[in-house]
Amino acid sequence: CVRVIDGRAAADYLLVSIGHRVQQAGLTPGLAVILVGSDPASSVYVRNKGRCAQACGFLSRQYDLPETTAESELIELIERLNVDPDIHGILVQLPLPRQIDPHRVIQAIEPAKDVDGFHYRNVGLLAAGNPGEALVPCTPLGCLHLIRQQLGDSLSGRHAVVIGRSNIVGKPMANLLLQADCTVTVLHSRSQDPEKLCRQADIVVAAVGIPGLVKSSWIKPGAVVIDVGINRLEQADGTARLVGDVDFDDVYPVASAITPVPGGVGPMTIAMLMQNTLESAMRLNGKR
Ligand code: NAD
Repeated sequence: CVRVIDGRAAADYLLVSIGHRVQQAGLTPGLAVILVGSDPASSVYVRNKGRCAQACGFLSRQYDLPETTAESELIELIERLNVDPDIHGILVQLPLPRQIDPHRVIQAIEPAKDVDGFHYRNVGLLAAGNPGEALVPCTPLGCLHLIRQQLGDSLSGRHAVVIGRSNIVGKPMANLLLQADCTVTVLHSRSQDPEKLCRQADIVVAAVGIPGLVKSSWIKPGAVVIDVGINRLEQADGTARLVGDVDFDDVYPVASAITPVPGGVGPMTIAMLMQNTLESAMRLNGKR
């Protein structure tokens, strides 16, 4: 029988255990989240991250900077946070306004506090096969957690197809699955016959941004399907509905397990951000 993977329940379970570990460790992890401008979706994400941090017993600080902020001002704030002993995780919410180069900003974050895992040092550690020392991006980490929940530790030799090659999701996901000894195929916008390649997969992770791209004809019977996509579909009545990159109703009868959107990968991403912040607090306090 097909399992709909309950990402919210998995995330809640993880958050409770993070709260316990904070109490046991006798330290207060500090998370600083920086929002530049007032993009409505980004504002919601940032608020949720702050609330979640507080619920875990963290120190949570939010910095709201105006849309017109200069890159140098943002980097100055990051440099202050880099040396602030109360802060163990620094997150700059993307996207940033045009005048700011996101690459320069991310490289300004102290790698040990880079809880998004986007600094080249952390990217390099993961790519070189040292994820234990790295901070790994939250969304792929959440996906891996859900995959392991379904398949246990027996990922070795399984064929995983990752659809999408972004630095935020696709590439780190592929590296994590390689690290778990999967055979990994990465599909992207220039891939030929993605349907045929995807149909060979035991594990499919879709991170594309195209609503309903993945149909049942893309899925081998019994595959585990993880849908990272978050796409807003405007309805005829003017309201909006969130859908993934996988056509859920079509794929559901074929897969052995599938994440819904919403309620799948989304909640796991935020839980993994808390896990990364706790991890960096432990490391920075010499408890690792
Ligand atoms: P992105 O736009 O940076 O990358 C999309 C990737 O898809 C690219 O690598 C591109 O080559 C590939 N692609 C485009 N068209 C394709 C096609 N027809 N076939 C195969 N590959 C194709 O996007 P992203 O930041 O990786 O995000 C992807 C999706 O995941 C978006 O919907 C985003 O909103 C969502 N997302 C969700 C979370 C979460 O927490 N659930 C986190 C990050 C991103």
